[in-house]
Amino acid sequence: MRSADLYREAVRLMPGGVSSPVRAISPCPFYTASGKGAYLETVDGFQLLDCCLGYGPLILGHGPDVVREAIEDQVTRGWLFGTPTPLEIDLAREIIEDHRSIEQVRFVSTGAEATMAAIRVARGFSGKSEIVKIEGGFHGAHDSVLVKAGSGATTFGVPDSAGVLPAVAARTLQVPFNDPDSLEDLLAADGDVAALIIEPVLGNIGPILPEDGYLEAVREITRAHDVLLIFDEVITGYRLGIGGAQTQFDVDPDLTTLGKVVGGGLPIGVFGGREEIMALIAPSGPVYQAGTFSGNPLSLAAGLASIRWLKGNRGVYARLEEATRALQETMNRWPGSFVRCGSLFKHFFRTDPPANLVEARQSSTKAFRLFWERMLQRGIFLPPSQFETNFISTAHGEKEMADLEAAYRACLS
Ligand SMILES: *Cc1c(COP(=O)(O)O)cnc(C)c1O
Repeated sequence: MRSADLYREAVRLMPGGVSSPVRAISPCPFYTASGKGAYLETVDGFQLLDCCLGYGPLILGHGPDVVREAIEDQVTRGWLFGTPTPLEIDLAREIIEDHRSIEQVRFVSTGAEATMAAIRVARGFSGKSEIVKIEGGFHGAHDSVLVKAGSGATTFGVPDSAGVLPAVAARTLQVPFNDPDSLEDLLAADGDVAALIIEPVLGNIGPILPEDGYLEAVREITRAHDVLLIFDEVITGYRLGIGGAQTQFDVDPDLTTLGKVVGGGLPIGVFGGREEIMALIAPSGPVYQAGTFSGNPLSLAAGLASIRWLKGNRGVYARLEEATRALQETMNRWPGSFVRCGSLFKHFFRTDPPANLVEARQSSTKAFRLFWERMLQRGIFLPPSQFETNFISTAHGEKEMADLEAAYRACLS
């Protein structure tokens, strides 16, 4: 069946026809038959250069041998036991070795679950009830982080989804990215904040980069006010490099959440931090957290194979960085602004690179939509939103980057 026919059927069976809203590309999403390396093959027989990469996890591209073999090897031994496995010790050891700030970890099944649990343990540790997030920061789809942007730093949060209790959203305050003064003012006036949760590089409306000294200032301000600092590195972990953004920017959070790349393309979430905080998690402490699929052997095997490969081939990070840097050189000759960070990049339909959500929203989404369609017609699949980061993988070689550059030039003119 072709994509249009499949979608007609899907809409009858599932709300909006999809399993996650961003996939409901209008008028009709394409359906994927398979993926290999840097490419997707659609059921309609088109080959697309993939710069969405499952929204980030596939840093080695589709179906890399090293990960496929690890999954196949685990499949022969079984994929769910409800008991501990040696795999979780191996992956925990790697993660702890790679992050100075992490002394203990817990494995969960998704990034959203990791941020939900990290927020719970921060409240359990501090005895305080509010959290602060960054406007435009995304931490998964759970109640305490589904708060409308632009509701203002000092007023209480307002739900960004029907079904979220106003009383829950009210416990979530927001400040703009790259604005340490707003954070200082808020924390000076409010003594009931348990934690600040922040993506060190905003990955879900950008990338938007932290200005020089911003993350250090965030670290100092939270410490001075006895507020835990949670780095949500679900996108940046093992994508910007081994040790993620916290290593690159040399700032130690109290808690870290990981996901995406760390599962090698299978579902995973991880949260971790100082032992004194993690010791509060059940069964060693009173903060409850549990899951049937937590520490899933297939996800751990895929994650471990990916992480070990990346650690054995650290030079790939410099290659990914160089590839987006070369693309930027071309892009700087065009109107708009091109932002990049390692293997993350985005062209904004706006003169200057945005520093926060308000500025990102000044981009022309109409121009983006037109551009996005032209790119797809040329065989390039970008995430279908001005506010989603594009990715490349180690499978994006010279030919793919040259095609990408040519497509940008053609589709922006
Ligand atoms: C994707 C993402 C999440 C949510 O992870 P899921 O695995 O989709 O639940 C959380 N935080 C950030 C920064 C993300 O990019």
